[in-house]
Amino acid sequence: MSENDLRKQIEKRRTFAIISHPDAGKTTLTEKFLLYGGAINTAGSVKGKANSKYAVSDWMEIEKERGISVTSSVLQFNYNDYCINILDTPGHQDFSEDTYRTLMAADSAVMVIDASKGVEAQTIKLFKVCVMRHIPIFTFINKMDRDARDSFELLDDIETVLGIRTCPVNWPIGSGKRFKGIYDRDAKTVRSFQSVATGGAKAAAETDYAIDDPALKELAGEDLYDQLLEEIELLDGASDPLDLEQVQNGELSPVFFGSALTTFGVETFLNYFLQMTTPPLPRHSNEGDIDPVTSPFSAFVFKIQANMNKAHRDRIAFMRICSGKFEADHDVYHVQSGRKLKLSQPQQIMAQDRQVISEAYAGDVIGVFDPGIFSIGDTITMPGSKFEYEGIPTFAPEHFCRVVQLNSMKRKQFVKGITQIAQEGAIQIFQEFTAGMSEIIVGVVGVLQFDVLKYRLENEYGCEIRLESLPYEYIRWVGDPTTDVTKLKRMNNVKAVKDMKGNPLLLFVNDWMIRMVLEDNEGLELLEFKKN
Ligand code: GDP
Repeated sequence: MSENDLRKQIEKRRTFAIISHPDAGKTTLTEKFLLYGGAINTAGSVKGKANSKYAVSDWMEIEKERGISVTSSVLQFNYNDYCINILDTPGHQDFSEDTYRTLMAADSAVMVIDASKGVEAQTIKLFKVCVMRHIPIFTFINKMDRDARDSFELLDDIETVLGIRTCPVNWPIGSGKRFKGIYDRDAKTVRSFQSVATGGAKAAAETDYAIDDPALKELAGEDLYDQLLEEIELLDGASDPLDLEQVQNGELSPVFFGSALTTFGVETFLNYFLQMTTPPLPRHSNEGDIDPVTSPFSAFVFKIQANMNKAHRDRIAFMRICSGKFEADHDVYHVQSGRKLKLSQPQQIMAQDRQVISEAYAGDVIGVFDPGIFSIGDTITMPGSKFEYEGIPTFAPEHFCRVVQLNSMKRKQFVKGITQIAQEGAIQIFQEFTAGMSEIIVGVVGVLQFDVLKYRLENEYGCEIRLESLPYEYIRWVGDPTTDVTKLKRMNNVKAVKDMKGNPLLLFVNDWMIRMVLEDNEGLELLEFKKN
């Protein structure tokens, strides 16, 4: 393949994640994108609310049936001349570290916000990860067909709660029953809102009006029309100009309004978004930036999914291709183990289906069969290259339990099981600072992981456990790992633990305690992410 053809393949790729608080409309928006791309034919094909409320055992059954994660996958489809990869960030009750890790593989993020609610808790957490990576963040304010909060207030909420500046690309006229349409600030036209059947492939024919068209005034009604003119004037005077460089550095978020359910504003958003966001960019490694086009194949592992079939203790490693072209029959090099290997059974998820693939390009995500050699953050290159991509940070868990093993005869299986599950990144394990493996504390980002742990230890390793919930909600890595934590002041109600590598951490019941400990121990640094 010529470099020119390779460049074309890579430059048409857009790889992004959609983040939101549960119920803001992420699934609905994803589905509408897929409808535009022709990847699915009817609304309701993407896993919806009803099926995502599985009990844990059902969830396991599904994983088994499909043989692959239903909780985090990639949806690839073509739209116009773009090849789009949507990285699905698991939300809802299975919200886990995988959600954070998926963001490490995305080139940009779409943040969906419910117009009646504004910024919500889970959005804040996911947003922090995007900020850490300096990736562009695009905001879609959804559910304008329902009564919404004041638009200026919503922008203010994003700016103050999240600390990012905003630039509305379009602006709504009314909301709920009085939602009349959206004003495009660049084109200076209004697209009028028509409610369409929710299952339709595309929105009904949409009409555009020039802002001074008398028909628009009639359509919107005098009140709303005058209000629009006033708001436009305010916006033009007060809001930040749309500086693409700032957008690409993640300092300014372009904002769009719409209604995913009725498909209104979705196509406009998609078109602007695809123009403003970039194809895969060079990625940092310990040997400098790796160019996606001119460098040969390279990738990093961002997620490992255990096989739910207990007869096979193999796993699927998901890797994001960062440069070049992947060809299934070529040898690759796994930098961390120093081994040359072929990636077996490479597969890609196209909309709902898993397909075995023979080639893929920078920007794509592939899942490969993992005989147990990959860890999260590992780098794969072509033989001859030994650089490593920056590791994936460990994110702070928020729920903690003490694990009590019920049958002490099975100690060995228990330690093996819990260590393996931790290696996959589903849970983090800690030890009491002074005790040995006798007391294990498990931390998770999403509480569902506790059930998964219990289920897997019983079913795969034959170990029964009891989980005793602990009152801690915050964990922080001690910046300097040589700190003697037994000498820290103000440690009543604070628990010192260590991770499997011996790094010290502190557990707190609330964030006020974190501030107290910081205040009383000069020079102490406490970290929310652990760089690997
Ligand atoms: P997710 O949890 O973020 O994936 O949210 P969903 O896409 O599952 O949407 C949550 C609920 O909000 C569902 O009942 C949707 O039908 C509804 N919903 C999504 N988008 C809109 C919208 O634009 N307008 C209205 N009225 N409802 C919406």
